[in-house]
Amino acid sequence: MPSNKSVSDAPIVQFTNCRILRSHQLQREDLWVREGKILNPEKLFFEEKGSADIQLDCKDSIIAPGFIDVQINGGFGVDFSLATDDFKSGIDLVSQKILSHGVTSFCPTLVTSPPAVYHQVLPQISIRNGGAHGAGILGAHLEGPFISKEKKGAHPEHCLRTFEAGAFQDLLATYGSLHCVRIVTLAPEMKRSSEVIRELTKRGICVSLGHSVANLSQAEDAVQHGATFITHLFNAMLPFHHRDPGIVGLLTSDKIPAGRRVFYGMISDGIHTNPAALRIAHRAHPKGLVLVTDAIAGMGLAPGRHTLGQQVVEIDGLNTYIAGTKTLSGSVATMDTCVRHFQEATGCSVEIALEAASLHPAQLLGIEHKKGTLNYDSDAGSPGHVPRGAAVVHFAAGGKSSLQPDPQTRYDASAVFQPQTWVFFCFFYLFPILVLYGICSKDKTT
Ligand SMILES: [Zn+2]
Repeated sequence: MPSNKSVSDAPIVQFTNCRILRSHQLQREDLWVREGKILNPEKLFFEEKGSADIQLDCKDSIIAPGFIDVQINGGFGVDFSLATDDFKSGIDLVSQKILSHGVTSFCPTLVTSPPAVYHQVLPQISIRNGGAHGAGILGAHLEGPFISKEKKGAHPEHCLRTFEAGAFQDLLATYGSLHCVRIVTLAPEMKRSSEVIRELTKRGICVSLGHSVANLSQAEDAVQHGATFITHLFNAMLPFHHRDPGIVGLLTSDKIPAGRRVFYGMISDGIHTNPAALRIAHRAHPKGLVLVTDAIAGMGLAPGRHTLGQQVVEIDGLNTYIAGTKTLSGSVATMDTCVRHFQEATGCSVEIALEAASLHPAQLLGIEHKKGTLNYDSDAGSPGHVPRGAAVVHFAAGGKSSLQPDPQTRYDASAVFQPQTWVFFCFFYLFPILVLYGICSKDKTT
């Protein structure tokens, strides 16, 4: 029985034998997709009198919403903070390759840089939908330069700035344009930060607190002025103290305005955050946890030595060292790895682990009506393809209680992708061509 051509010529794809993450639970239901949108089957059957053109057996796999990475500095040899005329091909490469790790939209992140870098790079970032060509771009995350010298991590000190008189105008002059900016990380203890937070929030830009020595009261003020996010909780901020818990205290603060939720990013790679710290944060404020990779250019490169910009680094599992030293050089864990580690470290359910990388970042950015869920009419992927957008099979059958990787079936795309997509997938996932651009690796998470 064909799809209803009076509504659309596009084929309707029915995913069968799968578990769908919907309404916070894995449910045994089929998933229906047309033109990149998830369909309501009742409406399809009874109003449109339509049915599937293509049926795909998912062999008991989980279909979860696509992951959203709101802090990713690069990967696969590409550094988003490196101003080049070829920036576009670099971002295209990353957006294509992170698909196979379940990430279907992201915020390319720039670390503290001189104004000239923002002026050259930001105009080359365009907000766009995802699809078979790559993950969607939700806008840039600018981490710095308005951050604390004491907690700069690996951000270059000579590029740090403070807010002087005319603070917001100074920020505009520094970045050049806010056109594609989605998140700004700043240190709220800086003078005039309240004014800047209000101005950014007014423009729909998410303000995140990080690389900061703020006390709890300063952090609460920032939230009252509009800040909603904390950048890589625990890293690059004052450690928890029982008399003044600092930014970490926002997780249990009673001064969060009614109806608001503070979210916080966590790098869950087993290296940057101790599992016990992950458990403390999760148990204190589970609905605010947003998994981020904070990945650098080394993510996705093969083990061994690589030249990344000015540095030679050695990748050994999830550790990246400056070659010949034991100095960590940034996070290289992919988002699917972070999701699995988070589940193992906290003992949370599969559903909770998946939502920390999908629903929560969508809520942070206020886009949960179209991303981060598998609700009807949400984005499912690109027209003409089965879901490579929101609906991605991340994890294969392996029991309900864990997200163990299964190399045989985890990316068994033949079960769920159309043949042409499978060919595409093989080419980019199984036989990756690692192209090195001019790279500059930065560790900015400490
Ligand atoms: Zn950072």
